[in-house]
Amino acid sequence: MDAWHTKFFPTASHQPVPRLAADDEDVMLRSLDSCPSDGQEVPTVSEKTIFKKIIDREIPADVVYQDDLCLAFRDVSPQAPTHILVIPKREIASLQHIGPDDQGLLGHLVLIVHKIAAQEGLQNGYRVVINCGADGGQTVDHLHLHLLGGRSLAWPPG
Ligand code: 5GP
Repeated sequence: MDAWHTKFFPTASHQPVPRLAADDEDVMLRSLDSCPSDGQEVPTVSEKTIFKKIIDREIPADVVYQDDLCLAFRDVSPQAPTHILVIPKREIASLQHIGPDDQGLLGHLVLIVHKIAAQEGLQNGYRVVINCGADGGQTVDHLHLHLLGGRSLAWPPG
């Protein structure tokens, strides 16, 4: 302890402050550079969607099918005797967010709908719906196909 500290803090014990490794200091300084200054909006970590929580098994769902690419489970608020949602395990916000690389995945989702429809005994027909964006009535920002069946469905939709 130097003379100044001994005079004003006679009882303080001298604990050397551990130094960060040079690399760590560099990382901290760079992250400080990227911090917004006062008054700017601080970016927030985006929330998991309810479907991502179902994929991660954080909330329960009545799962009827799953494989490496997708998960299918019964809608919590069924609009028909059979109402199943088929979702990709990869997070894609909506049909507006797909690209050419998703062709195989989208084909797979439709084939799985076909398979589940047979599994559910929907020989009389069914409807497959993808709501997209606000005007499309999409409420969960994770691409999903609704499989509706088990009753005669009206057209046009509301
Ligand atoms: P959208 O309106 O986005 O096309 O459809 C979302 C669907 O997800 C709705 O039919 C809604 O009932 C369903 N849903 C919302 N939250 C849950 C949930 O926690 N569990 C299940 N199984 N379905 C949900």
